[in-house]
Amino acid sequence: MKAPVIGIDLGTSNSVVSVVIDGEPVVIPDETNRTIQPSAVSFLANGKIIVGYKAKERLLIDPLHTISYVKRLIGRRFDDPDIQKAIRLSPYPIVRGEDDFPRIICYDIDYTVPEISAMIVRRMKQIAEKFLGVPVEQAVITVPANFNDFQRNETKLAGELAGLEVLRIINEPTAAALAYGYKRGEKMTIAIYDFGGGTFDITILRLNNTLFEVLSTAGDTFLGGEDFDRRLLEYMMVAFKHQSGVDLSNDKMAIQRMKALGEKVKIELSDRKRVKAQVKELTTGADGPMDFNFSITQEGFRERCSDIVERTFEVCDEALGLAGIRKREIDCVILVGGTTRIPFVREMVELHFGNSAFREINPDEVVAIGAGIQASILGRDFDEESSEQLMQAPLLLDVTPQSLGILTVGGMMDVVITRNSVIPTEQTRYFTTAYASQDRALIEVFQGESRNARENLKLGEFELNGLSVDERAKIGITFEIDTNGIVKVRAKDDVTGAEQQVQIRLNTSDGRTIENPWM
Ligand code: AMP
Repeated sequence: MKAPVIGIDLGTSNSVVSVVIDGEPVVIPDETNRTIQPSAVSFLANGKIIVGYKAKERLLIDPLHTISYVKRLIGRRFDDPDIQKAIRLSPYPIVRGEDDFPRIICYDIDYTVPEISAMIVRRMKQIAEKFLGVPVEQAVITVPANFNDFQRNETKLAGELAGLEVLRIINEPTAAALAYGYKRGEKMTIAIYDFGGGTFDITILRLNNTLFEVLSTAGDTFLGGEDFDRRLLEYMMVAFKHQSGVDLSNDKMAIQRMKALGEKVKIELSDRKRVKAQVKELTTGADGPMDFNFSITQEGFRERCSDIVERTFEVCDEALGLAGIRKREIDCVILVGGTTRIPFVREMVELHFGNSAFREINPDEVVAIGAGIQASILGRDFDEESSEQLMQAPLLLDVTPQSLGILTVGGMMDVVITRNSVIPTEQTRYFTTAYASQDRALIEVFQGESRNARENLKLGEFELNGLSVDERAKIGITFEIDTNGIVKVRAKDDVTGAEQQVQIRLNTSDGRTIENPWM
């Protein structure tokens, strides 16, 4: 038997692993029968590392050594505003590494972000191996559609550090579409509305039997379930101040506890009209320990948070515009991500798109199922396949989420590959040097949508030497994006034949492999 290839949904809040057995996708449970693992890692004083549910429980008792939401840090430089924001919110230290990428310090050891992510991947690998009873060496891992080149590279690296060959990085919404469209053989236009813990993504796809064509994708990397938790936290802090006269703004521990309570209340509100909560000894006042009592209805929750859902519709409209289709042309909206379990989120989505949302597949598992399907396709031994089976293998046509280009005169970015181009792709554009006798040119590569290059993400730079000096050199710049969405750039002077390829520098984690000491 061929070794199974697993599909991993490496999520911001939770991770899920799946595999296809006898043509049917299976979401793999852990030893306690749970299919969803919190993407949390906790370091113990004795050197052990815990991942998943037990780690999440430690967020409250040991926030200094428990890492969550690490996906928000992946592929970002230390100076990135999102990292700076994370530093302000994180109880554990995040410092600048020598390579300008962040390091997370736990018990005096500094870890790169891919190393922490690798601990989660390794746990998913271990769950799969226990379930399947055989070693697993290959995987497909999903990423948000709007992940840039660094983020994709570092996710792939996380898989490799965990001891897996990553056969493909696929976009989460494409995976969800695959889970929905697998064996369905219909012709329709669908929207994947993916509202997770930390990010929102919308993708418009056209399904035509086995062809899955992404028409457009748009997203917001700082819009998710956590925004609802924070809203509830703010509301609870005001309520506590009202009840007790005590301001908790500087009480880090009480804030952590209240935030956890906020998430719990939010989740309970998905099943109940009203939720009452109590925290014993939340803080200590002049007269000793103080409890906190709190109650909120579904309507009250909706009133306080519907603007967060409205923000997702702005992103949806952007994606529809990019795809050149109208809302009513969408045949089905597939809900993905834990936040779509909130009843008023579903209602508002249905109202916005004017059709009922598809709920057959568990929104927490749908991405992993798609990853598992893609994994089984890539892992197939094609010699053994009948031509009929090959015909049925879905074909994914994904798109690149952000434009790619180079810096030109006046600080402008000249685009070589436009956003939403179908991948894999290779495009060449020609540029002339600023003046004759210039024998070298610095080529700076950027990713993003601003005309002003400096407002976009700089992926790397390289120098092309040996240019023709008799006249202004004509340089062909070629961008290549592979099926993982990972970028390579080449530059060539057509006259002298001088050629150079960009080395997009990667946070390599000193070649360490991530073992979880508890295993
Ligand atoms: P994901 O990133 O897709 O794993 O989604 C995680 C987010 O979904 C977190 O913010 C959770 O608090 C939230 N979530 C999970 N289950 C529920 C639920 N039943 N109701 C509301 N939110 C939920």
